[in-house]
Amino acid sequence: MLDSHVHVVPNFPEPGVLFRDITPLLADGPAFAALVDALAERYRGKIDAVAGLESRGFILAAPLAHALGVGMVTIRKAGRLPGDVIGVDYTLEYGTARLELRPETVTAGHRVLIIDDVLATGGTARAAIELIESAGAEVAALTMLLELEELGGRSRLTDYPLDSILRY
Ligand code: IMP
Repeated sequence: MLDSHVHVVPNFPEPGVLFRDITPLLADGPAFAALVDALAERYRGKIDAVAGLESRGFILAAPLAHALGVGMVTIRKAGRLPGDVIGVDYTLEYGTARLELRPETVTAGHRVLIIDDVLATGGTARAAIELIESAGAEVAALTMLLELEELGGRSRLTDYPLDSILRY
């Protein structure tokens, strides 16, 4: 039922990229609620914090953290967090990027769930893992709304439990 709300957009944001758009899913109340409920059921009692990746990961991380009664950690694009930050540079399906984290928002030893909308090559997820571990916490699992299997991200994350809701 969820996959009918994910739209496929050719040549976005660049020619040759087939973009999966989750905004119709977010706009559908029952579908969005069913997604958050399913995630909350899966991780209840198993994690101490949810780390969302900017920007669509935030949309999933915030309601999930609230449902589980745990905190949300924001992993952001370069230059957007104030104060002391740690950062990791990485390559994307289309371009390069840098993710940053305020270590003080992570509690040492916490079991952290990393969440994002799409797993493509896995570069973003790997950078997020590096940040959480650098801050002294444990990556208990990663969950991705969509997994683009042909891009092989899963093979770069074999040391961690990885769940995806929809696979293409
Ligand atoms: P990766 O680092 O190659 O795994 O790319 C994952 C990141 O790129 C995620 O943060 C996604 O938000 C974004 N991304 C890659 N492909 C798509 C797509 O088809 N739709 C939406 N986001 C995408």
